[in-house]
Amino acid sequence: MPPKRILILGSTGSIGTQTLDVIRHHADDFEIVGLAAGSSIETLADQAREFGVGALGLACADAAGRLHEVSSTATVFAGPDGLLEMVSATSPDLVVGAISGFDGLSSTIAALEAGIDVALANKEPLVAAGQFVIEAARRGGAEVIPIDSELSAIFQCLRGERREDIARMLLTASGGPFAKLPPEQRRAVTAQQALAHPTWRMGRKVTIDSATLANKGFEMFEVRWLFDVSFDRIQVVVHHQSIIHSLVEFRDRSVIAQMGRPDMRVPIQFALTYPERMDADVPGLDLAQIGSLTFAEPDTAGFPCLRLAMEAGRAGGGYPAVLVGADQAAVDLFLDDRIGFTDIPRLVGAALDDYDGTCPSSQGDVVTVNNWGQTYVTDHA
Ligand code: MG
Repeated sequence: MPPKRILILGSTGSIGTQTLDVIRHHADDFEIVGLAAGSSIETLADQAREFGVGALGLACADAAGRLHEVSSTATVFAGPDGLLEMVSATSPDLVVGAISGFDGLSSTIAALEAGIDVALANKEPLVAAGQFVIEAARRGGAEVIPIDSELSAIFQCLRGERREDIARMLLTASGGPFAKLPPEQRRAVTAQQALAHPTWRMGRKVTIDSATLANKGFEMFEVRWLFDVSFDRIQVVVHHQSIIHSLVEFRDRSVIAQMGRPDMRVPIQFALTYPERMDADVPGLDLAQIGSLTFAEPDTAGFPCLRLAMEAGRAGGGYPAVLVGADQAAVDLFLDDRIGFTDIPRLVGAALDDYDGTCPSSQGDVVTVNNWGQTYVTDHA
């Protein structure tokens, strides 16, 4: 088998660097045809040297101008349009979509429309524009392979199963670092405390979203679009140990779970090797040492972002794009210490309440609605 040709969009972030870690252990099975980042030119140039990659992209056009200083031979793709051009110019077998946040939308859709499978890590494109992403995959005859651990779990549980046999999807949630914190103390949580996630190694945005439970709400959208099930058949269950990554219940009440140590390299590797499996350089699961697994209802009163996401999902139309835009702006403000932890759901809820309900009819409309949500929160903070 010739090596699988991989383009990594977002190679310097948490998912990108862990993807490279997986590829490092399977050097003969993969060829990296392109690497793209936001603005981290030094890290990108180091990665290009190590993996011998000649096509480099930078979403930030200013940074792209300086890339030649550190990597003189590379072909550089600059700015958001440059990244789209990179998708077609490098002709990959698989795009790893690991650009943080909503910005990954256009490259995801471009790859799928060109018939290229996308291993998708970032949730926001599916939350805000799920229908457009799935339609692009259908038009291009390409597949979205989830990287997110819970989604990878469900994807694996469904192998060989028939759609009509599915009864429910059970999404597990760690509960975030503040699940046991008394409500009155949650107001005073700082960005630094929230960034110290107990279990998973992740980027800043998704770590804050995990602490507010917005992330679990976003994953409900991923389930909804990737597996074509309605919101009322998706249930969230808190599971602090993060050993069961999610479950599927079938019509005969048989429940299949996917388990493993919480290490993102496992679902990343499965997305890269799918439909095959390969050896992984990670420790195995020792259930006797773990001892017990616990489960609980999610606290949607204490962490309203999950409830807001469910409401936006049921409302549909433009509400999911408002949710994504508002959450992005609120998390940015929180990371800058300009608002408190409990202001995040307050501002996101206010944006959803004040939205006029216009339904986007194109990818461009989704961007407009997303921007409206961001501006709303910035103006009302
Ligand atoms: Mg997840």
